[in-house]
Amino acid sequence: MTVKIAEEWLNICGGCEVSILDIGEPLLDILPELQFVHMPVIMDHKYHGQTGEKDVNIIEIPEADVGIISGGIRNEKEKHVAEAMRQSCKTLISLGSCACFGGIPAMANMWTLEELYEKVYRDSESTEKSETPKENLPPLLDKVHAVDEVVKVDLHIPGCPPSPDWIKEALVSLLKGKPFAMPEKSVCDECPVKREKKAAGGDIKRPLESATFKQDSPWEETRCLMEQGYLCLGPVTKAGCAGIPKEGEVAVPRCIKGYMPCRGCFGPVKKGSNPLVDMMGAISSIGLNPRQVADRRAMLNRYVGAHGLLKPLPKPRIAPKGGK
Ligand code: SF4
Ligand code: SF4
Ligand code: SF4
Repeated sequence: MTVKIAEEWLNICGGCEVSILDIGEPLLDILPELQFVHMPVIMDHKYHGQTGEKDVNIIEIPEADVGIISGGIRNEKEKHVAEAMRQSCKTLISLGSCACFGGIPAMANMWTLEELYEKVYRDSESTEKSETPKENLPPLLDKVHAVDEVVKVDLHIPGCPPSPDWIKEALVSLLKGKPFAMPEKSVCDECPVKREKKAAGGDIKRPLESATFKQDSPWEETRCLMEQGYLCLGPVTKAGCAGIPKEGEVAVPRCIKGYMPCRGCFGPVKKGSNPLVDMMGAISSIGLNPRQVADRRAMLNRYVGAHGLLKPLPKPRIAPKGGK
């Protein structure tokens, strides 16, 4: 039996598709059982017939067992493509942090559309002032949406980019008709570094300062980056970026492996939680001052701006002269 797959990229950078390729050799093992019926990154399949002969108001996606969408939803066209994918695919997967939570593009949700247009087309020092383009472009939606804000999604595989191990695991589970779930624990739960539950002293450091570590020393002798004063979002971020370790291997979260703090790309540990609020608590609990985190809204909800987590702040009220 072959499983038909349709893949679409919406508001994306293309990194999620590279992660599918990065499955590597195990992808070759399952390829004979997969039939890609639609995937714009590798196939010239048109939405309205191969010569555009069909109704331009209907987006045509071939029927598939599994649909994979990467990227969030920024404009009307992407919304219609997501709806067509939902109609054509029995099981729909949101792949990557943009599809699951809006990702980096959803940081734009901190401003209104009018403010964004003003900044990009008229108020940027490097750009000649111009009108906001309107012709031949799909209108933008009011904000960047995660896919499940627009259509029902069956499986979420987060990450920026997502881990090839979990993409393969999801495909194999679907092939075998088994349930698929990612671990409901945090990056810290998977992290093998030494923790003393208190900060080593000092202030919260700037992100570009290098973490202290001894080359080749075992992980259990390397001090937790948050306790060293780095803004590491491990406590509030879903585990999984370490991939699925082979027997005898130690799982080390992807950024920690490079001695970099976690930036939160796998999204909240539990659906509906707010990383900004939870992280403020985690920072305080080891004796650091969360008020030292510059631009807290952007830094702590960096990948998860859809679902209403990032929105424009109300304008400060200016009292009229002589008034109250
Ligand atoms: S989740 Fe990351 S890799 Fe995937 S499309 Fe978004 S920015 Fe690119
Ligand atoms: S805060 Fe960061 S370095 Fe510390 S245990 Fe969690 S993931 Fe590891
Ligand atoms: S450590 Fe954090 S930011 Fe880095 S890949 Fe893992 S979840 Fe993403």
